[in-house]
Parts: sequence; C-alpha cells; structure tokens
Amino acid sequence: MNEHARIFVAGRRGLVGSAILRKLEEAGHDCLLTATREQLDLRDQAAVHYWFRANRPEYVFLAAGTVGGILANSTRPAEFIYDNMMIHATVVHASHLFGVKKLLYLGSSCIYPRECEQPMTESMLLTAPLEPTNEPYAIAKIAGIKLCQAYRRQYGCNFISAMPTNLYGPNDNFDLTSSHVLPALIRKFHDARLEGRKEVVVWGTGRPRRELLHVDDLADACLFLMTHYEDESHVNVGTGEDLTIHELASMVREVVYPDAVVIFDASKPDGSPRKLLDVSRLHSRGWRHRIDLRTGIEQTYRWFLEHHDVARLVAGAAAHQHAAATES
Ligand code: GDP
Repeated sequence: MNEHARIFVAGRRGLVGSAILRKLEEAGHDCLLTATREQLDLRDQAAVHYWFRANRPEYVFLAAGTVGGILANSTRPAEFIYDNMMIHATVVHASHLFGVKKLLYLGSSCIYPRECEQPMTESMLLTAPLEPTNEPYAIAKIAGIKLCQAYRRQYGCNFISAMPTNLYGPNDNFDLTSSHVLPALIRKFHDARLEGRKEVVVWGTGRPRRELLHVDDLADACLFLMTHYEDESHVNVGTGEDLTIHELASMVREVVYPDAVVIFDASKPDGSPRKLLDVSRLHSRGWRHRIDLRTGIEQTYRWFLEHHDVARLVAGAAAHQHAAATES
C-alpha cells in the first residue's frame, strides 16, 4: 500500500472506521476514499457498484455495519442481521468485480460459541451454538468471513478477515440504549456525578468477563495486517487479557467518580460469560497492543468530556433557539 494508493474506508463515522482513517492519515496516505451513509447506502448493491466504478479503490477496509451493545442486539435483531449481511455482500462482491488488490474485513469476537473453551483460538469457529443475545449479528459476521474465503477460493481475491475483541475509544457510542458496556459506564458515572447521585446501576451480575482493546490499537493492527497478513483464516485481534464487569465498573468509577456506589441489576442479561481471544497467531506475526486499559479509559473520558458535553450544549442551544423561534 503506497502513500498514493486509493484506499476506501467503509464506515468512516464509526468507532473503527474513524480510527483507521486517523491512522492512515498519520502514516501519510493521501488518497483516502470515504462516503457517508447519506451519500452511499452500502446495503444497495447497485449504488455500491456505481460508487466502485466511479472511485476505483485499490484497497478496502470494511469497517461499516450496524453495531451495538447487548440491549440493541436483543431488541433490533432484524436490523443487525439484515444490514450487516447486505453490507458485507455488496462491498465484497464489488471489490471482486472492480479488481480491489486487498480487502480487510472486520468481524467480532461474538462469532465464537457461547460455551467456548478460553481463550478462544481461531479454530473454534462453528464448533458449538452461539450466545443467543447477539446470534443474528454473529451469524452475519460469520457469513462475512465465509464470503471473503469463498471469493478467495473461487476468484483468487486477496481478502482477509480480522476478529477484534470488544472495542472502545474516541467516537464511541455513549447512548445508553445502544452502547457497549465501557462507554455506557463512562456515561453513567459522569451523569451521576453531574446530578449529585451516588448510586450507579450496572447491568447483570457483574460476573461476566470481557476483554477490551483501544480502537487506536485496533487501527494499528489493521494497517499491520493489510501489509503483513495473507492467510485465508481469520485472525483474532485483542489484548489477551480480560477482567470482570465488576472490576471494569470499579476502574471507571476511579477515573470518573470515585465517590459513587455501584449497584448491580441482575434482572438485566449478562450475555456471554466470557470471550477472551487467543491472540497468539497475531503475536507470532509481530504485533502487540500498546494502550493499557486504565490509560485508555482516562483518554476516552477526556474525549467524552471534550465532545459529548459540547454536543449536548449545541443540542441544548439548538433546542433553545427552536423554542425561541416557535415562541416568537
Ligand atoms: P456484549 O459484550 O456483546 O455482551 O455487549 P455489551 O458490551 O453491551 O455488554 C457486556 C456486559 O456488560 C454484559 O454482561 C452487560 O450486561 C454488562 N453491562 C453492565 N452495565 C451495562 C450497561 O450499562 N450497558 C451495556 N451495554 N452493558 C452493560
């Protein structure tokens, strides 16, 4: 991938796509192609063909998709399976038709069975049933891996797949109805502090374990894989370390609101008991994460303070203006 290569990052506004773009810019790439959802509906094969014909990308990072936490996955399963299956199919097919040199497809650690031996190696895919709370999403993500492998086998396409663990960082979703656990915890402790409330409710029993990777580390791994990985098998991307939701909540409390008291709401689902990735394949190729969790949480909270409250103030000012306009 030379500096002037035409690189398409699908999913530019998302947590992952925006981090990959930042990393590519830092590395000096000057022909970055993007399209917002309004400009290009990636579920629409005709529109995607038209866009590929007009823009001729040479490399594709497929980071677009409908994503969300445990609640969003349980309540909007149709969107999670339809949107993702369509997006993977249109982009992979167009990449084949228009001669993309290499494509990196991004999946998720939820592709592995619920009762999987830990840590989970790449070979454990499709060895037992999936976690029910995100099965539709996981099926779409597994279909994406198989799609890349099928195009490689039948047409010789250089399409590779990476399976990141739970991610967090700048541009994350902090909406409590659709976010993942870490941004939700940051938001909950922050709001409680502002409102002078001591109690913060954390869903589930606090016992499930999760592995968390800063999205800047993932973006770094993506560039590394684009240059150094050629295998048909997908590759896990994570830290190889996990902690309980209870421990995670304590860490976020220390950073955001040390006086808070954590209450567990066991009526909410725990989801998968554990999903720790075996990252030895990636380590053996020479890549390791750099950002430790505590530092990553502090950095993400700073980002949240700079962006979220600004967004809230802007929304508040707009609502105020709107109210003023309607009143006058
Ligand atoms: P998952 O990794 O696919 O299960 O997705 P999440 O990141 O949404 O949830 C991870 C774990 O955190 C689950 O056990 C949740 O019950 C727990 N959790 C605790 N509090 C929250 C919260 O406020 N939001 C979310 N999304 N999860 C929470």
